[in-house]
Amino acid sequence: MSQPEDAICNGITFAWKRPSSWVGPLTTWLRPRFRDDWSELLRPGSERDICCDDDAWLDLLDTVVAGDPESLLHDLADVLSRTTLRTFHGTRTHDAGSFFEAGLKVHDRVEMTKGLTMLVEENDELTALRGDRLSKAIEQIDNRTDDGRLHVVADDAFFLDHAAHYLIYGSEWIMAVLGPEGRRFLRSNGAPTLLEIDLPLRMVHPGSRYEFARVLAREWVRLTCNETDWTSPIDFAFCLAVDIPPSCIVGHAHPTELSDPLEGGRPYRSAVSTCLHCLRDHS
Ligand SMILES: [Zn+2]
Repeated sequence: MSQPEDAICNGITFAWKRPSSWVGPLTTWLRPRFRDDWSELLRPGSERDICCDDDAWLDLLDTVVAGDPESLLHDLADVLSRTTLRTFHGTRTHDAGSFFEAGLKVHDRVEMTKGLTMLVEENDELTALRGDRLSKAIEQIDNRTDDGRLHVVADDAFFLDHAAHYLIYGSEWIMAVLGPEGRRFLRSNGAPTLLEIDLPLRMVHPGSRYEFARVLAREWVRLTCNETDWTSPIDFAFCLAVDIPPSCIVGHAHPTELSDPLEGGRPYRSAVSTCLHCLRDHS
């Protein structure tokens, strides 16, 4: 049920890695739901030696909630739909401007096939895939799990450390179709790109919002108890079934020093650190 303090979350834009953007409002929202002695129970400043991702933090939260702890997390998931979260998407492109103009689209296999056919026709390094070789290669990759979906992540640091292959090679499907020979080509086609997206959390599935409410509450307890100002790395992705509009794309970067998870973490250094959009911006 909606509470007066829910309004504090209206229109908030926050980032996982900037606790100052969310800890204060969340504390204000949580307090009316806590027992009066919540501060003595959590003992802020007495550091607890609990792993960042341990649900023991949520057990601690349970001890201070006046009502049903589970309904608190559901209420938090609901109220998060009033907020916007800075999220990230990894890709490889010659021109990030296309995302600022058209937004981020769900994986459309028909459009992807058209784009891949053009890529093969335009690049001599991919000559071996011309003719019916490409359609045969596509047939062999019978994976449609990405069709109609797109993914963004809440923590760019974790993403870059563990899943930089999206920036090094681009689409997993294209990489699978082109095979090992194509990988070499993809590694040097365009620039590794990290898109910054302000995602209104009303766009995500309620189940994902609930899971995010859990990790946010867990981190709030850790930050409050241990009085630390660094956020823990999280592996959290939102899977969307709708396009993200261009108004949500707020920035982009071209990281050059990455490690390639498909090559056992071998360092990957990009020679390209700009795209056409960067050049237009500075012209
Ligand atoms: Zn650029």
